[in-house]
Amino acid sequence: MKPALVRLDRLLANLGYGSRRDINNMVRDGRVMLDGAVLDDSEQRLAATSELALRLRVDDAGLDPLPGLVLLLNKPLGVTCSHNEAGGLVYGLLPERWQRRNPALSSVGRLDKDTTGLLLLTDDGALLHRIISPRSTVTKRYLVTLDQPLRDEAVALFASGTLMLAGEARPLAPALLQKLGDHTAHVTLTEGRYHQLRRMFAATGNHVSALHRDRIGALALPEGLGLGDYCVLGADDIARIFAI
Ligand code: URA
Repeated sequence: MKPALVRLDRLLANLGYGSRRDINNMVRDGRVMLDGAVLDDSEQRLAATSELALRLRVDDAGLDPLPGLVLLLNKPLGVTCSHNEAGGLVYGLLPERWQRRNPALSSVGRLDKDTTGLLLLTDDGALLHRIISPRSTVTKRYLVTLDQPLRDEAVALFASGTLMLAGEARPLAPALLQKLGDHTAHVTLTEGRYHQLRRMFAATGNHVSALHRDRIGALALPEGLGLGDYCVLGADDIARIFAI
């Protein structure tokens, strides 16, 4: 099957390089190259293959990733998974141009402002839905630190599938609680309800003092990826999300 054709000005505008008029000026000024040759027509159509990002250069730099982008961010404390709240947003940790992309990057579900760790961002709506739809069984693992010593009964309560949180109409799906120490545990969830873990531990009379997500499915937060840093995921990484 022949690859779809994409107009140069539309491609670059949708990647956030500027308006179509800006792109026209960039092409006129000889700033856009394909396979080492300067392009002179901003309306020319190019085959939208994955190699295009390697062949096109703007201002002598490689092109930004094409749509279908999936990022793994090590979310720091104090930033919000929202497009429009006041204060620091996770999107502010990405290159400025990436914030003007169309389709836009969105976080795959949310982590609280006070939660750190593995956050996925993508412009692929179908992938996002596959991970966070109510029917999804993708697991999310958290490292939880608690104010009070962990009570053994919490293991059975979380696993029961009967725990009701205040104001909710349905009980929580079973969750796996693995004790690591008196005040620390791994908890694996398949859901993503509002402040879920903080509310689950509050229901046992405890308080979560720190929360960090370290896995989604079999995809682990890469060692050495600092807080606030991100990496682009490939097909093998994405497959790992669904591997457990
Ligand atoms: N549960 C919470 O309470 N907060 C998160 O950010 C994730 C899970």
